[in-house]
Amino acid sequence: MSNQSANNASAHTASTKSVTLKIDGSTGEGGGQIIRTALSLSMLTGIPIEMFNIRAGRAKPGLMRQHLMCVQASQQISNASVSGATLGSTSFRFAPNAIKSGDYHFDIGSAGSTSLVLQTLLPALLFANTDPNINSTVSIKGGTHNPLAPTTDFLQQAFVPALAKLGMHVDIECVQAGFAPIGGGVIKATITPFMRRADSKPLTLTKRGALTNITLVASVLNLEYDIGKRELASAKSVLLESGVDDSLITTKANKLDGIGEGNTCYAQVTHECGDHLHHEIFTLLGEKRTSAEKMGNRLAGLVKRYLFKTDALADEYLTDQLLLPLALSGGGQFTARVISEHTKTQSWLIEQFLPVKIAFDTINDSQTLVQIVC
Ligand code: ATP
Repeated sequence: MSNQSANNASAHTASTKSVTLKIDGSTGEGGGQIIRTALSLSMLTGIPIEMFNIRAGRAKPGLMRQHLMCVQASQQISNASVSGATLGSTSFRFAPNAIKSGDYHFDIGSAGSTSLVLQTLLPALLFANTDPNINSTVSIKGGTHNPLAPTTDFLQQAFVPALAKLGMHVDIECVQAGFAPIGGGVIKATITPFMRRADSKPLTLTKRGALTNITLVASVLNLEYDIGKRELASAKSVLLESGVDDSLITTKANKLDGIGEGNTCYAQVTHECGDHLHHEIFTLLGEKRTSAEKMGNRLAGLVKRYLFKTDALADEYLTDQLLLPLALSGGGQFTARVISEHTKTQSWLIEQFLPVKIAFDTINDSQTLVQIVC
């Protein structure tokens, strides 16, 4: 680890490395995120973990295929000793060794989310203590467009640009799209080892500047092209009606490659923020018995809520996903529209491993200042 926060993490590790951290998976949200973040942080700090009550907050508790893949992939990149991790298990132990950069291939074996597996491995591979000039690559087979998870588009259009502001460089390619129930999608990530510049300052994403553009994208996988075009037309007309300037809206219909069928649409909304741009994305997945027009309407509704009901920069999902990268890169602050149970659980867990403090200060009903102090 090469930066201040990582040094803090190492210092923290030195005193506690041999002590196993027990993590109650029923805490807060009680879902899969606790498993993934605990694995990431265990690999980064060297602290062995024992997880119990896994996904106790879910109707079907225990490790699903995607979570099991996260454990197995983490085991592979950190040469960890693992016991008790099988499909459905509600506890396991994980004791990592040194993280190895390299070229990895994982197959979830279902339509489980490739994005969530990748997010588990990214922090470790960014900080892998090897040659700073050698990138790692990770290919993961499974779902690229899953409900209740970031799609590949979300990672590419919102998460990766946010990481880049922290000096973390990751490139993500959607090699093949995969939707439930068949999956068969493949993403490939190229991860450049993170070197924090000595003069870098904590990130500040607090004040929304001017809206610079809204890009609406609709994609189909082995479905009629027209579906996407209708989604775009309906989303655009709702945004125009609400007063968004026509010149700020760009639309794009896509055909995806892959097996199975699927439809997704998203809006990338970009604002100025100091001397950089901030991108938020809102994603929907097509559903049987929901018309393309209704999808477009819903998408525009998400954008309108963000544009007109809050001045915050980060929306719900980016908020929980930004906490760990910020905690690992020197901290920072940002404004969030909403603080979800996911976000609270994530901050609790990060504080179990790292000497950081995460604070939420309510500004008003639709804006909270999130501060990560290292
Ligand atoms: P479980 O099955 O236990 O719910 P899970 O493994 O699917 O668990 P969660 O714990 O629910 O995962 O975490 C889901 C993650 O996906 C969170 O980080 C959340 O921000 C993200 N997420 C959910 N929906 C979206 C969305 N529409 N766009 C972007 N990210 C999303």
